[in-house]
Amino acid sequence: MKFSDIPGHESEKRRLREMVDSDRLPHALLLQGPSGTGKMMLARALAQYLHCTSRTPEGDSCGTCPSCIQHQTFNSIDTHFSFPVLKNGISAVTSDDWIAEWRDFLTESPYMDFALWLSRLKNDNGQPRIFVSEADSIIHKLQFTTHHNNYKVVILWLPERMNPECANSLLKIIEEPYPDTRIIMVSDHPGEILPTIYSRLQRIDVKRLPDDLVTRWLLDNYEGLSEPDARSLARLADGSILRAASEAAMTKESQMFLDLFIRLMRLAYQRDIARLKAWSGEAAALGRETLRKFLAYSQRMVRENFIMNLHVDSLNYLNRAEWEFSARFSPFITTDNVIRLINLLAGADTDIAGNANAKVVMLDVAVKSILLLKHK
Ligand SMILES: [Zn+2]
Repeated sequence: MKFSDIPGHESEKRRLREMVDSDRLPHALLLQGPSGTGKMMLARALAQYLHCTSRTPEGDSCGTCPSCIQHQTFNSIDTHFSFPVLKNGISAVTSDDWIAEWRDFLTESPYMDFALWLSRLKNDNGQPRIFVSEADSIIHKLQFTTHHNNYKVVILWLPERMNPECANSLLKIIEEPYPDTRIIMVSDHPGEILPTIYSRLQRIDVKRLPDDLVTRWLLDNYEGLSEPDARSLARLADGSILRAASEAAMTKESQMFLDLFIRLMRLAYQRDIARLKAWSGEAAALGRETLRKFLAYSQRMVRENFIMNLHVDSLNYLNRAEWEFSARFSPFITTDNVIRLINLLAGADTDIAGNANAKVVMLDVAVKSILLLKHK
């Protein structure tokens, strides 16, 4: 990870770069600020810059020296990652026990937060923590001399999730650091870090990203997203690329739901049983949770179309694509069928929630929709 790989944060990068260049990188540094803005990437870029043997005149790591290659492939012998983990029956669990999951996580979700990590660990019992066994592991690793006459770096994610025993153990090496060791902590909620630790860290505020930058990022990463849509998503995201990405993914899901809903209504109107059968198979394949979201979405669409038919514009909550479809479709949703259509979809949701066969339920929805959509 080079500094130039990270969008934005120019002043933060400048400060970090100057700390290294002037040999004043503190023993224990904290990057703090809102989640989803790229703090972990800054920490990684800093470690790579520190270790790079051929820094560029622009103040970045070269990306090609052996040390940079090691960093980019998660093989830097002098860099250790610490992060919250689950015990899962492992006594004296450390981050090393979860390193494979962690590397995948960093690669796939460079804009990250605790909730995303938690969902990745797919855990039902216990909260991920940084346990005292991790502090022992860190101390053990920092004791050894470095391999290339270089700094040993610990990148510790979410110090707010350290157990007090762990914090007490680490306090010692923060107060009396070993030579040539650096600890870089990354926190989304610095107010929750134990005060004894927090007071000993040199802090850098990593700010929210500007809306323009988030908009640009969305346009680069979500094909087909229009600029006005990207702008409004960026405004909602409040400077967090992580939030912007999740909003954009939700938009993607609602596009898929709209497409599925349109086809259901169209095929039902055309009384095309063969294709309705294929449609129900496709809907069933969404899986139970997504299918239930689709059924809730469809109920909303029926309701909105009915309201549109009543010409009560102020009550409409439709995005542009939904509105374009509904402008033509709404005359078909009337007092004659609105309640029965909604009941049909709600009943299907109850059946799916009760583990009924999704394909059978959805075919039933499709066939009954034929009867409910009258030809004019
Ligand atoms: Zn390099």
